[in-house]
Amino acid sequence: MARSRSSSSSSSSSSSSDDSDHGKQSWWKRTLQKKKKSKSNNDNNGSSSSQLSSAGRAARNALLLGAVQSILPVSNTPDHNTMPSTETSPLLNGNGAQGPSNEANAKKRGIVWGALTALFAGALILILGFPDTFANVFGPWLGLIPSDPALAALAILDRAPVIDGHIDLPILVRFEYRNNATAIDLGSRMPAHVDIPRLRKGKVGGFFWSVYVQCPDSKIADKDFLNPTWRVRDTLEQIDVSKLLIEKYPETFRLALSAADIDAAIATGKIASLIGVEGGHQLGNSLAVLRQYHALGVRYVTLTHTCHNAFADSCGFEPGIIPLHHGLSPLGVTLVEEMNRLGVLVDLSHTSDDTAKHAIKVSKAPVIWSHSSARAVHNVPRNVPDDVLALIGKGENQTDAVVMVNFAPFFVATPGNANVSAVADHVEHIANVAGKAYVGIGSDYDGIGEVPVGLEDVSKYPALIAELYSRGWTKYELGGLTGGNLLRVLRKAEAVAHELQGAGTLPKFDIYDKRTDL
Ligand SMILES: [Zn+2]
Repeated sequence: MARSRSSSSSSSSSSSSDDSDHGKQSWWKRTLQKKKKSKSNNDNNGSSSSQLSSAGRAARNALLLGAVQSILPVSNTPDHNTMPSTETSPLLNGNGAQGPSNEANAKKRGIVWGALTALFAGALILILGFPDTFANVFGPWLGLIPSDPALAALAILDRAPVIDGHIDLPILVRFEYRNNATAIDLGSRMPAHVDIPRLRKGKVGGFFWSVYVQCPDSKIADKDFLNPTWRVRDTLEQIDVSKLLIEKYPETFRLALSAADIDAAIATGKIASLIGVEGGHQLGNSLAVLRQYHALGVRYVTLTHTCHNAFADSCGFEPGIIPLHHGLSPLGVTLVEEMNRLGVLVDLSHTSDDTAKHAIKVSKAPVIWSHSSARAVHNVPRNVPDDVLALIGKGENQTDAVVMVNFAPFFVATPGNANVSAVADHVEHIANVAGKAYVGIGSDYDGIGEVPVGLEDVSKYPALIAELYSRGWTKYELGGLTGGNLLRVLRKAEAVAHELQGAGTLPKFDIYDKRTDL
C-alpha cells in the first residue's frame, strides 16, 4: 500500500526499502528521533502539528487518568511530576489541594462499591431463585443457551444460521417476472415464501438457489432423449437471473462457490448464495455442459427431476413409474465420476431408489438429498426409504451424506396434518436411522404451493429449531442440522475433487451412445 512520506525524510535508501519491514522501522525511527530532538531543543520553529499532537496526547492522558482515578482506589498523593504543570483538567485537582478531592473520591468509591454489591446480590438471587429467567435474560450475553425453546432457537441460529439446500426463488422469478431482475424488489414483500426481510427474520446464512427448469413437454419427450429441447438455454437463463439478483443486493447476498465462501459470507453477515441444477434433463445429455455449469458456479446437480433422463432413473411424482436404466446408465456412472472430479455435489432427491443406491456405490464423494424427507414417516416416492438411509453413516459400507428435509405438505403428512411437529418427525426419523450428523434442511420454499402450519415461509425456521430443542436436541446437534452437516459434506466433496485433480484424473469425454452427430 502506498503511503506518504515527508520530503525531509526521503532519501534513495529509504525509498528503495519502502516496502520492507526494515524500511518501515527505520522510517519510523527517524521520525521519532526528529520529534524528540525538536522537543528537547524547545524549537519554536518546529512543526506546529507535532506540538499540537503532543499537547493533545497529554490532554487525553490527563482525561483518562482522571477518569480512572475517579472510580478506582488510588494513592491520595498523586505524583504531579508525571504531568506537566501547565496541564489542567476538570477531572484532576491541578493546584495540589488534597482535602475536597479525597472526600469526593471516598464518596464515589462508596457509591461504586454499593452498586457492585447490590448487583452481585441481585444476580445471586436471580441465579438461585429464577434460573430459567436468568438463562433467558442473561444467557445469550454469557454464551449460554436460554431454556425457553423459542429464545434458544434464536440464540442457536445466531451462531449457526440456516443453510437451506433448496429454494426455488429463481423459477418464481421466471414465472412471475419473466426473469426481469430489475422489476423485482426482494427488499419488499414477495408473493410467495422468500424475500430479504423474511430471510433475515428466519436467520438464514445461506441457501442453494435452484436453477430448475421443468422436464421436457410430453409432446416433445422421446424415449431416447434425442429430441431437441430448450432446457440448456432455460437453465442458463435461470443461472443468469440468480446471479443478477445476488449482485443486485451486495449488502445481503454473496455468491458462494465453496465451503470457505459460505463461512466468509456468514462471517460478514451476508447470505451465502449457492447454485444448484435440479435435474439431469438440464444437461443436454452432455458432460461438457456439466463442466460449463460448474464454471458458472453450479455446485450441485440433482441427477433427475420427475422424468428419467439419459443419465439416471427418476422416482417420478406418483408411484408406479416404470424404470428405464434400473439406476444409473453407463453415461450416468461417468457423470457421477465427472461430478466428483469437479467438486459438484451429487444430489439424489427426485431419483429412484435404485439410482440412489447405484450413485452411492459409484460416488467417491459424499452425496446429498437437497430436499427430501423420510418415507417411513410419510410414504411417498420422493421421500428417502429406510434401506437407503441405512447406507448413510460412518460404518463400513456406509457413505457420508446429508438428507435435507423437505417441507412440502404433500411429502410431510396426510392432507391437513403438515405442521412443525410433523416436519420435526421427519428430521428425527432420519436422525434415528442415519444419525443426527446426517440431516439438514431443504425447505423447497417458492417451489411448493402449500406450506406446513407454523412453517409458512423463510422467517419460520426458528420454529422448527425450537421444536427440536424442546425434544432434547443439543445446540451442537442443531448447529449440524441448520448447516454444519452440509458444510462437512461440501468440504469432503471439495477434498475429493482436489485429490482426483491432484492425481491427474482427466476430464471425461464419453458421448451419449444414442447421439449420432459426434
Ligand atoms: Zn424438487
